[in-house]
Amino acid sequence: MATTTAHEEIKRRIRTIPDFPKPGIMFRDITTLLLDAEGLKLTVDAMVAATDGPVDLVAGIEARGFLFAAAIAVPLNAGVVLIRKDGKLPGVTIAEDYVLEYGIDRITMHEDALVPGQRVLLVDDLIATGGTARAAIRLLRKAGAHVTQAQFVVDLPELGGADALRSDDVQVDALVAFEGH
Ligand code: AMP
Repeated sequence: MATTTAHEEIKRRIRTIPDFPKPGIMFRDITTLLLDAEGLKLTVDAMVAATDGPVDLVAGIEARGFLFAAAIAVPLNAGVVLIRKDGKLPGVTIAEDYVLEYGIDRITMHEDALVPGQRVLLVDDLIATGGTARAAIRLLRKAGAHVTQAQFVVDLPELGGADALRSDDVQVDALVAFEGH
């Protein structure tokens, strides 16, 4: 009998909701993974195990990225830096813009969040086109971070985001992949 791997256990706990938030999108919903104590632990353990070398900070992308960033930062003995939408952080911020299908979006972080040279692991729940993660990496590098790696629970490889990040000299790891958009 075939044994089920941790990655298969994680994948089957992610729910797919077709046509959300708009027609044609298959939304990979990690809330069902979060609800499951065993699935959440498997996910956190796998992300910690996939971390390549020591890091000083884990950067989480709003909002689902925060959950995984904080959970893995504790066993990694790292702090957490928040990458947020514009207008949410109370202190002085630096910003980076990125292009969406229709229009432009902006992410920010506190300008004094990190000391130049600190090793930062970027985390989000999912990478699709990579636009958000690439902007986060530009932002972290602008603040002086040494971005060592980016980790995601889900990769949508057909959208090319992980490969784009690799071309930015970042090691990319994801626990599971889904076909399509
Ligand atoms: P992108 O910038 O295209 O890589 O999009 C990544 C961001 O959008 C992540 O923060 C994801 O949470 C969200 N996202 C994009 N596509 C999906 C999808 N099919 N299912 C769930 N979340 C998605």
